[in-house]
Order: sequence, then C-alpha cells, then structure tokens
Amino acid sequence: SDSHKAERSELGPRLVKGALYTFVRPEPTEDPELLATSRRALLDVGIDPAEADTDDFKQLVSGNKILWDPDSQTGIYPWAQCYGGYQFGQWAGQLGDGRAISLFESHNPSTNTSYEIQLKGAGKTPYSRFADGKAVLRSSIREFVVSEALNALRIPSTRALSLTFCPHSRVQRERMEPGAIVCRAAQSWIRIGTFDLLRARGDRGSIRQLAEHVATKVLPGWKSLPGKLPEGEVSETAGEPIRGVEAETVEGERKYEENRFTRLFREITRRNAQTVAAWQAYAFTNGVLNTDNTSIMGLSIDFGPFAFLDNFDPSYTPNHDDFMLRYSYKNQPSIIWWNLVRLGEALGELIGAGSKADEEEFVNEGVRKGWADELVERAETIIQQVGEEYKAVFMAEYKRLMTLRLGLKKSKQQDFDELYSELLDTMEALELDFNHMFRKLSNVNTKDVETDEARKEVAGQFFHKEGLTGLEKDEGAARERIAKWLDKWRARAIEDWGEGHDDERIAEMKQANPKFLPRSWILDELIDRVEKKGEREILNQVMKMTLSPFEDEWGWNREEEERFCGDVPKYNRAMQCSCSS
Ligand code: AMP
Ligand code: MG
Ligand code: MG
Repeated sequence: SDSHKAERSELGPRLVKGALYTFVRPEPTEDPELLATSRRALLDVGIDPAEADTDDFKQLVSGNKILWDPDSQTGIYPWAQCYGGYQFGQWAGQLGDGRAISLFESHNPSTNTSYEIQLKGAGKTPYSRFADGKAVLRSSIREFVVSEALNALRIPSTRALSLTFCPHSRVQRERMEPGAIVCRAAQSWIRIGTFDLLRARGDRGSIRQLAEHVATKVLPGWKSLPGKLPEGEVSETAGEPIRGVEAETVEGERKYEENRFTRLFREITRRNAQTVAAWQAYAFTNGVLNTDNTSIMGLSIDFGPFAFLDNFDPSYTPNHDDFMLRYSYKNQPSIIWWNLVRLGEALGELIGAGSKADEEEFVNEGVRKGWADELVERAETIIQQVGEEYKAVFMAEYKRLMTLRLGLKKSKQQDFDELYSELLDTMEALELDFNHMFRKLSNVNTKDVETDEARKEVAGQFFHKEGLTGLEKDEGAARERIAKWLDKWRARAIEDWGEGHDDERIAEMKQANPKFLPRSWILDELIDRVEKKGEREILNQVMKMTLSPFEDEWGWNREEEERFCGDVPKYNRAMQCSCSS
C-alpha cells in the first residue's frame, strides 16, 4: 500500500521499518533445466500450459527474466515480503522471504481469482539474514510434488507451477548439493507472522491497514465474511454463534456488537480449522507449524520436513529436530489454534473495538489510559468464543471427511466412538498403514464380510507383508479385532446404502481414499534417481500419479505403479527429515 514505503534493495541482511516488502530481483542462473511443470497448477492460476514450452517461461521461472523494463521504467519489479513469527513457541523476530521472490500476479478469469507467483531459491533478499537464499534440489522436489499432491486431495495448499534445476549452483548444507528453484503460487502469501511482526513493532496503524487489505482484497471482501450466524445455523457445521459481548463503556451501558475485525478473525479461523481437519483426515503432517508458516487463507504452506503418516502413530513428527513433539500429528489442531490466538492478539484492540470511532481512537495516538486494556479484555472473551467455533468447524469437517473415507452417507453420533475411534485405536495398536487401510477398505464388498470367518480372512489384507510388526504378536487376536470392527462397518454401510449397492459405494469411496500418496520413501527414491542417477522421466511419472491419486492405474509401468502404491518398505517407515533445505 502507499504508506508502506517500499525500498529498492541493496542486498544484505537488514531490519526494515514501516514496510512489509522490499523490491529485489532474483539472481540469474546459467543453463537452467526445466525438470517439470504442473499443467494443473498452470491452468488454475490462469497461465496457458503451452507457455511452459517457451524459452520465455523457462527464463522467467529460473529467475533470469523479470517483467520490468528498465528503459521505460515500466512493468513489474519483483519483491520479497517481510514477516516475523513464533518458532517452536518462541518469538523469533523479523524473518521474511529469505529465499522467496515474488514476480507478478496472475489472474484466472474463469474463477476470478488472482495468484501471486513467486520463486523459491532464486537468491538472497534483505530478509535472508545469514543464509544463502538458495534451495537444494532435494527439498525443491519435495515441495513441488507435495503442493500438487495436497491440491489433488482437495486440501487447500499453495501450488507449484514448475521445478527448475540449476546445474551450476552448488549449495552448502550438511554436504554440497545441487540447487533448484520452485515457481509457486498462492492467492496470498500473507501469514499470521505478517501480523505478528507489526504487533511486535507496535505499529497499530499498519495492523489495521493490513487487516483491511486482507478483508477487502485477499478474502472475498468484508461483505461476504461470515456475519453474525443466524440461530438456526448453530448445528454441527456452524459452531456456536458469536454473541455480542456485553461491555460497559464511558457512555454507559452498551451492547457490544460483533465487528468487522471479529468477522475477519473468524473467517481466517474457519479456513484454518477446515485445512487442519483435512490434514488429520489424510494423516498429513507439516512438521514446522510456526506462525510464519500459517497462512491467513488457511492454505497448507511451507513444505520442509512434512510427511504423510505411514503406520498410524499419533505422536509421529516428521521433523527430526522436533524433540518435544510440538509439531506431531496429534498436536496439529491445537498448534494451529495456538497460532490463531497470536493473530487474535495482534488484532486485539481492533477486535475489541465497539465502533469505528473506537478503532480510530486506538490507531491514532493519544489513547486514553486504560482504554486499550479494556478493549484487549473484550477481545480475549471474543477470542475464546472463536476458539469454540474453531473446534466446531474442525470437528464438522473432520467428521465429513471421515464419513466419506469410511464410505458412509451420513454421520451418526455413535460412529464417532464405534467406527472412527475404534478404527484409529486398532490401527495404532496393530501398527497398520493409515492411508492403505482406507483404500483397501474401499474395495471390500459387504458380501465378503458377512460371516465372522470371512471377516477374519479379509482382516489379513490390512497387515503388512511381513505380518504384524508391533507389540501385538497374536495374529488370531489381531484378526478378531479387525473382524469385529468390519462387522460394525458393514452394518453401517448397508444402513446408509441399502443391500446390493456395493459398486456405487466402492466407486465413491475410492474417490475419497487415494491409492497413491507421495510418501517419504517414494520422495527419497525419486530424489535419488533424479539427483544421483540423472533420471528425468520418473519425475513425470510420479507427478502423473500425484495429480490423479484416486485412480487404479496410470498407464505407465504396472509393476512400478503397484510398488509405489504398495506396502512401505519396512525400514523406510516413519522417516524423519532435518530442516536444512
Ligand atoms: P522456514 O523454517 O522454512 O519457515 O524458514 C524460516 C525463515 O528462514 C524464513 O524467513 C525463510 O525465508 C528463512 N530461510 C530458510 N532457509 C533459507 C535460506 N536458505 N536462505 C535464506 N533464508 C532462508
Ligand atoms: Mg517459512
Ligand atoms: Mg521453509
């Protein structure tokens, strides 16, 4: 915005004041090799996929070309964003796009959506602090694939348009590694950390400006943000309505009405609640859920040591350095809420303000003593109420997805204990593969699990190839436990679908339960083959599977496809990753 005076960068780490971005251009790279593009992502952001075959495109996504013409001083000069964040629960100060540079905004007229297109790994910015601004091929392959994988699973995510290999770039990590650049896109790259930074600076005016920008330009606009929920809508899906907070003011008694900043906070909360519900339903772990990695659009963002769970283990964290298990699978819903509370605090006075006049009073200097405290106190009450809404929206979305994954048409209260919880407990106890369990279940015909004998037989297909791996060694008991569950599931499936509708149910279930997911072991093999063995085609094959994860086959190499969709090799389960990417 105009008052954020953006400065042209002289490279070198710096703290900026009064600005949330800096103009900076990518570092050119010689002989870039375009390893892969996502046709789906290109279409979604409104770029004709045929463009991807041009040299222009290659130069653009490798950082060699920008859309700025120095002679006429027209076009778009690239920029890097400034933000802060709480890392592992501690305020970390100013961070910012240390290795991401935005190039331009694209527009998709058919969805009327704009995307900010940026390069990751194209060199230093003023926010690089003391790092190199580069990304290694290994982590770039991971980010490229998973962004598109999540999107294909219908989980909100930032997108990846292309993956470029930089043959002359050597990047020092634990060892020297080849560098790469991912060109990625998001409707917005603003994070909770962007608000955190302004709060830490005590810059009230900018917080309001940023909030207004998000509510009017990024989200669908103030008008369509959830207003006060009508009484009737308070069901499983809507959560408790936010009731006005009674508050005494100097003018006497006045009923406080939910204001537009509360609506904004609720909208950001609801989006994140839905996304984290989808992570839980598909057993995706981000691994570094710092506030700078929490999107105000509720997108999955920043892919470092992420992973899909293999065996169901709620305490699993993909992050090798996460000793406290802060970012483990089971903690994700509470961590996202923790992050949202930081946002609520940054917006505090605005949320607590009863009127526009209140807002003005805070933003401008000369705040009456005690007034801010009063508003923050009101805001605390509201944040707590939004917390209830967060839980309700999370549960509703989680139930919706689990209902689909179990092949049911409606969700009943008792399903929670008898089906979801019991299945999760069983998978954990028997160390079963979470996502394989659902895909295999999809293909089970209710006729094949009519008798106890038959159910025990079917139960065996959920085991790993080598049999039971956990503490439970009694195969008979394991089969019995699964059989008992299958019996309940069968009854519920028939209740919802009627007898003889297996084909329809199976077809629908397969659309909710992916056959292929880019598990850590597959990404490792892919990286090895691309980086060390110089293979290229494998990347396209894995992307084909990634973009259509619900298919049965992909017309590539049947044996390889089945291997990638099959049992995770015993010693490659629950792998962890370090943060050095
Ligand atoms: P992350 O852990 O990916 O959320 O990154 C935290 C901060 O470190 C962000 O501000 C990143 O931009 C920055 N950062 C991470 N890696 C690099 C790098 N290689 N060069 C410059 N900045 C980096
Ligand atoms: Mg980050
Ligand atoms: Mg990162």
